[in-house]
Amino acid sequence: MTQVVNIGTSTLELVQGDITEQQVDGIVNAANAELAGGGGVDGAIHRAGGPEIMAACQAIGGCPTGQAVVTTAGTLSARNVIHAVAPKYADGLHGEPGLLASAYQAALQIASDQGLKTVAFPSLGTGAYGYPLESAARIALGTVIDFLGSHPQVERVRFVLFDDEALAVYQQVLMEEAPTRRHGPR
Ligand code: ADP
Repeated sequence: MTQVVNIGTSTLELVQGDITEQQVDGIVNAANAELAGGGGVDGAIHRAGGPEIMAACQAIGGCPTGQAVVTTAGTLSARNVIHAVAPKYADGLHGEPGLLASAYQAALQIASDQGLKTVAFPSLGTGAYGYPLESAARIALGTVIDFLGSHPQVERVRFVLFDDEALAVYQQVLMEEAPTRRHGPR
């Protein structure tokens, strides 16, 4: 089931699946600050896209928490991978909300600057980095909704949620954040 809402002329979608299989211009990676690869989404993207992506990450060298960098997408069908660095969640009192929002903003700004019209995001921070799912979903969806409202050149943002729980939480939060825009399942 896909949940879709319109934000101005752009579209925000929630789907369940594997982010490496998305037919989009830009795929966002949940990277670490060393851009060193890892498990979760990061491992999946490097496995699926081949060694060119890691070579590009090594050439860049790193990325501060709350920021993002762009590389080739290697053999993936996307044009670019955008590596965004979410905070490691401690207790929510160490700047985590601002850093998570800024990781989304930085990735979206790169997409806009690179002319990427369609972008797929994972749920940044909610795996190994331990960000509580509902708070993370609120920040993720709120930040994307705000950005799309002022950047119609990014035409479609798709959240690709890996498991049932993440999909259910994002769906619930989206209904709360954008109730009047909801078009329902299709
Ligand atoms: P972080 O280190 O930022 O927490 P993770 O990659 O550990 O990033 O997890 C982020 C989220 O991505 C988790 O909810 C995890 O279940 C999910 N995930 C893992 N693999 C994939 C994949 N191939 N496609 C989409 N989401 C994935």
